[in-house]
Formats: sequence, C-alpha cells, structure tokens
Amino acid sequence: MTKNLSAIVIGGGHNGLVCATYLASSGVKTTLLEARETLGGGLSKQTLRDGTAVPGLIQTHHSLNDKIARELKLQSTPCEPLPTTLLSTSGEHITLMGDKVSGAGVSARDISEYRAFREEYLSYGKALKSLMLNTPPRLKHFDWSDKTVFAKLGLDLRFGLGKAGLNEFLRVAGMNLFDVLEERFSSELLKGGIAADALFGNHAGPKTPTTVLPMLMRLFQETGSTASRQVAQVDNLAGQLAEAAKSAGVEIKTSTTVHSVVMDNDKPTGVMLENGDILNADIIVSNADAKTTFLKLVGARNLDGMFTHRVTKTRTNGDVAKFFATFDATPKFTNLSQNASSGRFLVAPTLMYVERAFNHCKYGEFSEAPVLDIHLTTLDNGKSLLSANAMFAPYNLKQGWEAGRAAFEDKILDILSLYAPGIASQVACRELWSPTDIEKSFHIEGGHWHHGEMAIDQSFMMRPVPGAGQYGTPVPGLYLCGAAAHPGGDITGLPGRNAAKQILADLKGRR
Ligand SMILES: Cc1cc2nc3c(=O)[nH]c(=O)nc-3n(C[C@H](O)[C@H](O)[C@H](O)COP(=O)(O)OP(=O)(O)OC[C@H]3O[C@@H](n4cnc5c(N)ncnc54)[C@H](O)[C@@H]3O)c2cc1C
Repeated sequence: MTKNLSAIVIGGGHNGLVCATYLASSGVKTTLLEARETLGGGLSKQTLRDGTAVPGLIQTHHSLNDKIARELKLQSTPCEPLPTTLLSTSGEHITLMGDKVSGAGVSARDISEYRAFREEYLSYGKALKSLMLNTPPRLKHFDWSDKTVFAKLGLDLRFGLGKAGLNEFLRVAGMNLFDVLEERFSSELLKGGIAADALFGNHAGPKTPTTVLPMLMRLFQETGSTASRQVAQVDNLAGQLAEAAKSAGVEIKTSTTVHSVVMDNDKPTGVMLENGDILNADIIVSNADAKTTFLKLVGARNLDGMFTHRVTKTRTNGDVAKFFATFDATPKFTNLSQNASSGRFLVAPTLMYVERAFNHCKYGEFSEAPVLDIHLTTLDNGKSLLSANAMFAPYNLKQGWEAGRAAFEDKILDILSLYAPGIASQVACRELWSPTDIEKSFHIEGGHWHHGEMAIDQSFMMRPVPGAGQYGTPVPGLYLCGAAAHPGGDITGLPGRNAAKQILADLKGRR
C-alpha cells in the first residue's frame, strides 16, 4: 500500500526524525529537509560567541518514550538519574531524587507526603497512556478507532486508578498547582520547586487555572521513560535519531529551508525551497509549528477563512529565555560541596515567588526575580559552563529585547549571586537567547518551548486547533508531526510517532 509513495518531512527536529524513520521503515520513500546546519531542532548543538559548544535549547529531558526507543532500535545509554537541588538562600537546600526528598529543613511529614504525592500523580500520568500514544479521538465523525482510544482511556482511568483514585483525579485535574500543593506540603521551598518544574515553557503561574495539566503531562513522560538525563554529558540523541533515519532509508538534507508548500487543485504536490528548487512528493509532513506551517508555508489563500482565523489566534509567544555563562573555575554555591555543584538546580524558593515572577510577563516585562532551571557542567578544557532556562521573559518585551537583553542578564546574575556570592564577577563570557532569538535561530514562531501553549483549549484533540487535531489537516495530504501537535513539546518523540502511525493508517485506507 505504501510502495511507490513518497513523503517530504519539513524539519529535522527529533519529532521530524522519528516520523521520517517510521515512514521510511514502512516503505515510504522519505526525504527530510532541515533549515539548520545540524539535525535535532532544540536538541541540536550550538556554539556560543566565545566558541563554547552548548547542547542547544535542551538541558534535561526524560528522553524518548521507551516504546519509540525500542521500535527504532536506539542504543540505550546507561545514565544515572539526575538529582534536582532546590536552592535556598539560607543554604538549607532540598534535593529531589525520584520519589525521595532530603534536606535539613524538610519535615518527616513532607518527606512521606512527597512519596505519596509522586505515587499518586504518576499513576494519573500513567492512566493517560492510551491518549498520549494514539491519535486523539475525534468528537465529531466518531469511528471505531476514536471509540477504541476513548474506551481504553476510560478503562485505564476507572480500573487503573480505582474508584477513589478516579474521584480524586477528577477533583484535581481542573485545579491550579497553587491550591493542590498548598493542600499537601508545608515546605515553601518544596512547593516552589514542584510548581516551577511543572510550569517551565508555559505562560502560567501556579495560580493559573488548570495548571495541574502541565504537571501531569510531564509526569506522564517519566512513566514512559527511563530517567531524567543531563544531556550535555551523556546523550547524543539527535545523532542516534539521525543514524536510525538514515538506516531506514531517509534521505536527509540539512541547510535546506522550505519556502512554501506547492499546491495544485487544493492538494499539496511538493515543496519549494528557498533557492527556488521544487521537490515533489505525495505526502508533506511538517515538523514546524502550526503558524509557520499554515500561515507561511501553505498560505492563507489555500485555507478556509475560519481555520486561518483559529491558527492566527493560537497562543505561541514564548516566555523562556536561555542564559549561558562560562567560568574559568567552577563557581561555588553556598553550602554545596564542590562535587555537588555540578548538576541541576532550581531557583523557585516559594509558590508566591513563582507567581510574582509570572505576573511581570502579563505586562510585557521580564521577571524582577526570575525562576531559574540551572545546569552546571565542567567542560573538557577545565572551564565551567552554566546554562539556565530563565522565566519569565516575554517574547513581546515592552522595550524590545535589544534594549532589554543586558538588563535581564544582570537580573539573572543578581539572583544567582544570592546563592553563589561573587558569581557575577567570575563570569568569563555570558550570552542570552531571548524568545525572539530562539524564533530566529530555531525557526519556532514566538520562540515557544512547546510550539504553542499547552493550555486545555490547545491540548489533546484541540492541538494545535480543531480541524488539525489528528495530525491530518484541512489540506488533504498535509500532516503535522511536531510539538505543535498532540501531545505537545519536550523530548518525547510522541507527536512524530503518532503522526507517522496516522499517516500510515490513512494510506492503508483505514480512516
Ligand atoms: C528555551 C527553551 C528551553 C527548552 N528546554 C528544554 C529542556 O530542557 N527539556 C525538554 O525536554 N525540552 C525543552 N525545550 C522544549 C523543546 O526544545 C521542544 O519541545 C522540542 O525541541 C520540540 O521538538 P520538535 O522536534 O517538535 O521541534 P523542534 O525541535 O523545534 O524542531 C523543528 C525543526 O524544524 C525546522 N524547520 C522549521 N521550519 C522549517 C522550514 N521552513 N524548512 C526546513 N526546516 C524547518 C527547524 O529548524 C527545527 O530544526 C525547551 C525549549 C525552549 C524554547
């Protein structure tokens, strides 16, 4: 059925690579076109102004879903689970490792409650498996495959969680993180850390309605994968995915930007490259975000007015900036041994700190006191690299990022100095990528972590918009396979795999 069919995948992010590999493995002649010099999208390495190589946007991830790693026969890289240290100005830091929490200031009650909380919320995450690993069911034109996904989801929720578990799941699923965490824990530092970890990449503070949802999406990733990883040290996931794609027969072209999708009689027949070349294919799959795909590559003239309106209105402005600093010697954090000062650290001392940090970005300001997800690594040349995801840093900064860049870098260093006194004066080189920089160099509209908000109205069968929520789009033969599609961003490979499965099912005429 798939023989003699051809596909072009636009974009070689990890999802584009995963999708292309599944298609090629099923006999579809597949070509992947990537605008950047290197593959992997957010995972692709980048070089700072001082020549330091950094691992792109990604700092930690739970890695691809295990099912994908198995199906694509990727080598598993043994790695230690990565502890997260929640920094305290008093030096009474808290360390999270799996379901264990430790630290001088943590009560016995919080320690046992954290274990129970993780167990409970991981079970909720796990119960969503059938929804995450499949095309989200359609609400209109309901057929057997939609019914199957709904039925599996219902069974997993009812029998996986039990009656009491299901009742509690239904109670908390629509709540905000602030209220849920206030109910469970007394340590401010612990609550702040859990909230920050769940919210990275979202335009939301802990008091924003339905913020339990992004936490569940992250916890689901943990249930389907081995462990958190420090990518800079142990991973070459982009390289492994590129090898898997080539072995499956995917033809890969880097430094090749797609200018537009070529249409004939309302159907895509290929793509036009920026140099004017035209490549033809039966199926076009886009790893780019929805606005890029529909508004730039396809063009509003080829789309229904209401659909175009929906795409235009999706919320895609990013709020996370990437900060890098290099040091000739390892910076010293208060009350952390030299050994401990390499790893992952969060600055989110209280729930209200995170909420106040968020408040600024509603008004086009960066946070006065940003939330930081920090990574420290020792480089081969003996220098140290600090990279940090810093939020909140709105795409539409009032004064513009050229004017605001240095001031936000200073704010980040001011906050870091509270935990590592003197750190600002030890910086050898510093660099900040604002959401506008990320938009330009990673080709993501708005520089958004998830290619678009993961709010309830832009999730599941409504991701990115109704009418394109099942990987297929109103343009027959055009599909989405990246973070803009269900189940969204982070390194999971699931949008890529689910899209490939849907395309192959469509080719076999099952839907
Ligand atoms: C600041 C920041 C920090 C992040 N940190 C983490 C983290 O620590 N852990 C984590 O799990 N996730 C993190 N993320 C999220 C993660 O980067 C994304 O969710 C993930 O990269 C999405 O993968 P993807 O394959 O769908 O898309 P992408 O990785 O964005 O890849 C899409 C690819 O398509 C290409 N493309 C686009 N348009 C065209 C075109 N016209 N022609 C050819 N090619 C094109 C792009 O160049 C890109 O390579 C972070 C995101 C940001 C913004």
